[in-house]
Amino acid sequence: MKIYDQHLHSKFSFDSRADPKDNVQQAIDCGLAGLTFTEHFDTGPEDWSSCVYDDEAYSQALSSLRDTHGQDIFIGKGIEVDYAPEREDFILQFLDTHEFDLVMLSVHRFGQAQIHRKENWQDWDVPRGTRHYLHTVLEAVQWCLKIKQQHGRVFDVLGHLDLVKRYTQRFFGVNEVGQCDDIISQILQASLEADLTPEINTSTLRQGLNEPMPALSTVHRYIELGGMSVSLGSDAHRAADIGAGFSQAAEILRAANVPSLARFEKRVRHDITLPH
Ligand SMILES: [Zn+2]
Ligand SMILES: [Zn+2]
Repeated sequence: MKIYDQHLHSKFSFDSRADPKDNVQQAIDCGLAGLTFTEHFDTGPEDWSSCVYDDEAYSQALSSLRDTHGQDIFIGKGIEVDYAPEREDFILQFLDTHEFDLVMLSVHRFGQAQIHRKENWQDWDVPRGTRHYLHTVLEAVQWCLKIKQQHGRVFDVLGHLDLVKRYTQRFFGVNEVGQCDDIISQILQASLEADLTPEINTSTLRQGLNEPMPALSTVHRYIELGGMSVSLGSDAHRAADIGAGFSQAAEILRAANVPSLARFEKRVRHDITLPH
């Protein structure tokens, strides 16, 4: 089956030192049909100073990798845009003037605070913090829908929609996302309206959780609501993690009766039918 890893980072992201060449080699060695880099575009006011995104250097690196390996594997250029609605004009203008295969929207904060900093959890217990994060994701998807109505589809994939559990697990040893079916359903419904494809992100499988983001029950709910395809991503920040956890993800796809995997090329979605 043709499998694409559509969420991974290299040295063009602030939190990775991976050489893009090693990423491509690893993807070829794993037998993947393609890999799409999704470098961080840290738009939030707090994060912008540490953003290392350099479109020119990034594009050049991928273009030379396509010259050498383009026959063996699809090499996509994507971007992981941080949800920061106060920067809407800047984000839209940037996306409109640069070329991508895939544009991912990810929420890395709850309200205004970054979710990965433990000090930001001081005023939140896990159930309330989890709901607060998911409400921010819902707000982000509604923002996408509004933008789509005005400009056409600008965002293709919704990254790790229940990311909050990675941090509640890390900081407090618990995962309360299962108590939030109501908001999860609203996020999925709004994603369908916004033409935003959810991803199955396997990074939690190597970070102390026995489920990807999101879990089987959420994928199942998405299909019940009429969803047809999901995007698959390892969120690798080093070459060795590319394609990691994909066999477990494939079991979830089968268990949830997901009809197809979505892959993006030049912002067009192609659905690859999954055998059942
Ligand atoms: Zn992310
Ligand atoms: Zn990422």
